[in-house]
This record gives sequence, structure tokens and C-alpha cells, in this order.
Amino acid sequence: MAQNRKLSKEEIKSNYSERDHYDLIIIGAGISGLATGLMWLKNTEGKKTLILEKNSYTGGYSTAFRKGEYVFETTQLFPDIIEMMEYLGLEIKLKRFEKDFMRRIVVHGDEVDEYKIPAGPENFTRYLKSKFPDDADKIEKLMNYSVSMFSQVRKLKVIPTLKDTLVTPFKAPKVIANLNRTYSGLLDKFDITNPKLREVMETFTSFSGVPSERASSIYATGAMLSSMTRCFRPYGYFDEFPANMTKLFQKWGGEVRLHADVERIIINNGIATGVKVKGDNSIISADKVITTIDPMVAMRELVGDENLPAKYIKRLENIVMSTSSINIALGLDDDIDLAGMDLDYPYNVVSTGLGTSEKLFDGFMAGDNAFSEDCFHAAVICPSLTTGAKNTITIRCNPFGINNWLEWRKNDPEKYKAEKERWGDFFINIAEKYFIPGLSKHIVVKDISTPATFSRYSGSPTGSIYDMASIVTQFGPKRLPFKTPVENLYQPKFAHGLYGSMMNGVQMVDMLLNRKFNDGNSLFTPKAR
Ligand SMILES: Cc1cc2nc3c(=O)[nH]c(=O)nc-3n(C[C@H](O)[C@H](O)[C@H](O)COP(=O)(O)OP(=O)(O)OC[C@H]3O[C@@H](n4cnc5c(N)ncnc54)[C@H](O)[C@@H]3O)c2cc1C
Repeated sequence: MAQNRKLSKEEIKSNYSERDHYDLIIIGAGISGLATGLMWLKNTEGKKTLILEKNSYTGGYSTAFRKGEYVFETTQLFPDIIEMMEYLGLEIKLKRFEKDFMRRIVVHGDEVDEYKIPAGPENFTRYLKSKFPDDADKIEKLMNYSVSMFSQVRKLKVIPTLKDTLVTPFKAPKVIANLNRTYSGLLDKFDITNPKLREVMETFTSFSGVPSERASSIYATGAMLSSMTRCFRPYGYFDEFPANMTKLFQKWGGEVRLHADVERIIINNGIATGVKVKGDNSIISADKVITTIDPMVAMRELVGDENLPAKYIKRLENIVMSTSSINIALGLDDDIDLAGMDLDYPYNVVSTGLGTSEKLFDGFMAGDNAFSEDCFHAAVICPSLTTGAKNTITIRCNPFGINNWLEWRKNDPEKYKAEKERWGDFFINIAEKYFIPGLSKHIVVKDISTPATFSRYSGSPTGSIYDMASIVTQFGPKRLPFKTPVENLYQPKFAHGLYGSMMNGVQMVDMLLNRKFNDGNSLFTPKAR
């Protein structure tokens, strides 16, 4: 049985050779760090490259863990990063979800609407038109516009030259027109006023815990089209992906050092020259340093305000980090028939109606959460239907703020446990009511991750699960640039999810190599394959 095999992450060992100097040091062995390391070694020769990771495993937020006889995974949807994997020669056995992308339930008091959102934009358009025939014309126009806008993103350059800037309005007019538009603004543009139709469309912004009134229209459209066009799930466990990336990186001569908590980025005269790992007596020096960890920690703590211009510090102060989450991983007994419950979708999502995301986001911005019996949003995923292992489900609930979670965990374990259980029960009841009748009777193992858990593993003080929030005021040219004010220090962190993390690597390496690899393009279009 799949559950008896070793987790792939357990096979990964450090191969640090303790050199004094490296060409490149990457902080963090999550998908962004590993993708950067791989794209770099694939496009350079003989470069001495070291990835430093504070945890005992690679993969960061994309991982798997064992509890009793069960294996649980953090990430659930494997987006369409196939081209990048083929380019690197990374292999992993994936199940493709061909028919439906999501089972979606919207609750209005006692009334429940259910949708089966099909995979692929054409199928989705057809489906929406059949569900909302009075709005068929508007739907057609919105979806055509969305596909066209997303295709224009391909024409953008990451760091435009003057010439690029001059031609962009002609090559990508829809992107320019939408740079400051929210997703809600885009729906307004197409006169989508039917509240039920809006509820379905807004599914794609609530994914990241951001309401459509604040989400970037381009980002939300990209998330919708890229995730639904081709989506997958590994047949094995999710940690196989970063483990394979790590093995390939090491095979190509890259070094990985686990248990290496970087406490300082060394700056001399405004230039990054190396890093200091906690517990080390000496500094590891490097020509270039790339950080893929929480930007607030990297810049404000590891670099320090004394090394940053006041303008940049101000910018950091205004950054809204993404939300945190509560994740409930359940191992179920063998008596439950999950296969017979129509759960085999990348996501099963239930929420209350229009306005929910906004209320929940406001609760998060106030530092806490706004979940209640009348206002909720949760995703229920059933990984064991793909892995074939013992029955598991994961309930993902965001947005939560860090609130008192760190404090409770440290100083008041009883309160921490009680709050964990309270929210666990709250969301288990929701999953039981809308997706899995009798769920609570079948629970054998329960593991609840709180914002404090996410903070502990990632090192993000806010327990942010998606880095900087994907709100329109932080999108495109308004995001923190990869190039930091410190010379030779870079920070490829602007898009969330596995797709975004892989693209962090692509764009970062292309920038270091002066467009020699991806021609400065915003999407993956390498010159030589
Ligand atoms: C519960 C959950 C479910 C998700 N589900 C999906 C999904 O289904 N599909 C999807 O596409 N995306 C999903 N995501 C998002 C996705 O996992 C992340 O966007 C992605 O993994 C981020 O990768 P990263 O490398 O940028 O950051 P991280 O994964 O945070 O990696 C950063 C690494 O840096 C290390 N680090 C931090 N501080 C230091 C330090 N001082 N010194 C050394 N190392 C340090 C950390 O330990 C970590 O390994 C999910 C995220 C979460 C939390």
C-alpha cells in the first residue's frame, strides 16, 4: 500500500561541501528556491551554487507529513507547469482532471446552489451559459475578453526597456487597461449583475482569500484560466515534487544545506557579500544572494533597516502580506465510501453567498477572522482518491489572521488547543453538512494546522500562506521588484502558488543572465528547449 512507503522528503540529505565562497547562495528550499537553483544550473556551467534551508526537508509549503498510519499533504492542486518540468527533465506521475475542475456549493440560508465547474475555458463558458441563459451574451464577451487579456500577458517583458514600454500599449492593450482594475471592476465592465453568476465568477479570487473588490483583474483571470485549463494531482505524495527537484539540483552539482537557518545577510558598502547561518562561526560568502523567504523577514531582519533606503522601508511598511489559514487533515476509517460521494475534484468548495470574501478579508485585515455560521468559506479535498492510500480528507479554511495564535501556542497551550478544536469542529461540521454525511463518525486521526503552525514552518511572522497578498495595489509594476536596493541581493517573490513559484525561478534567472534564457518574457518561453 502507498502509505507504507518512505516519504520522498526523507530521502533528501545535505551535500554541503563547506566552501568559503559560492557564485550564488539561495535562501530557502521551497519551490521558488529550488526552481531558481535548477533554472540557474541548467543555464550556466560550473557555477558553485548553495541552497540554505532552515528545516530538515526541502519543499517549504509544498510537502507531506505522516501521522499514525496516514500521510497528509499541504498542497493539493498541481497546476499546469508541465512545460517547465519538461524543460528541466523533471518527472512525476500525475493524474489529470479532465472533466470537472470544481464542485462548488453556495449557501443562502436554507437554500443551496450547486455547480460543477468544468475544466477548460470553452467548457466553462458553455456551462455558464447553460446555467445563466439570460446572461449568455455577457458571459461570452467576458470569457472571450479574459482569454484574450491572458494571452496578451505573454507579450509583456518583466523589466521593460524603454522600447518595450513604448510598444506595450499596442501589443498588450487589455493588460494596460486592466493594470489598476479589480476583478469586481472587470465583472462590472461586462455588466455581470446577476448575483448568482457573480458568486460563481468570484470563486477564483476567494481562492487566495482576497475579495473581488480588491483582487487584481489580471491576476484573478490568470489564476482562473491557468488553473482550470490543465490541472493535475500527483499519484504519489506531494513531497515527491520538491524531492525530485532537490535530487536533480544536487545531480547537477548544486549543494543543499538543511538545518541552516540564515540569521543575517551580510552587506558591505551597500553590496550583499554573503550570509551568516545561525550557530556558524564564519560567514559563507557569495557573489550573489537570492532570498525566497518571507520578504518582511528577509529585508527588515536579515538585511536590516540600516542597510535600506527610507523609501524602500516605507514601501515594505505598506505591503499587505497574504492571509493565513486553518487546515484540518483527517484520516478516516475504512468503512466510509469516499469514492461514492462525488468528491473526486481538484477542489470541492462551499461558501455563503455574495459579500462573504469581503467580510472574511475585512476580518483578516483587522488581525483576526470573521467566520461564523452565516459567513464561511472552505475547500474540502480528498487526496486518497488519487493516491490510493488510506482514506484522507483535507479541509482548507482561509482567511485567518495570525491574531493571538502565536501567543497562545507559546504561553497558553490549553487555550491554543481549545481554539484549535473549536475551529476544527466548526469546519468539520460544514464539511459533514455539505459534502460528507456522517464524517465525524469516521475520524481516526485529526491534525489541525493553525496560523501558528504555518508561521513556525515557513518562518513568516504573519503565517502568510501566499506571500504578498494578490491585491490590485500590489500587482504588476506596483509589486516589490526582484532587484532589491542592495546590490547583488535579489528577491523573486511576487506570485503565489506552485505556478508562481516556478515562474519566480524562470524570471529570476533570466534577469541574472540578461534575458539570455527567457528573453525577458513574463511567461515561460525559453529560447532553447
Ligand atoms: C496549506 C497550503 C496549501 C496550498 N495549496 C496549494 C495548491 O494546492 N496549489 C498551489 O499551486 N499552491 C498551493 N499553496 C501555495 C504554495 O504551496 C506556495 O505558494 C509555494 O509552495 C511557495 O513556495 P516558496 O518557495 O515561494 O515559499 P516557501 O514554501 O515558504 O519556501 C520558503 C522556504 O524558506 C525556508 N526559510 C525561511 N526562513 C529561512 C531562513 N531564515 N533561513 C533558511 N531558510 C529559511 C522555509 O523553511 C521554506 O522552506 C498552498 C500553500 C499552503 C500553505
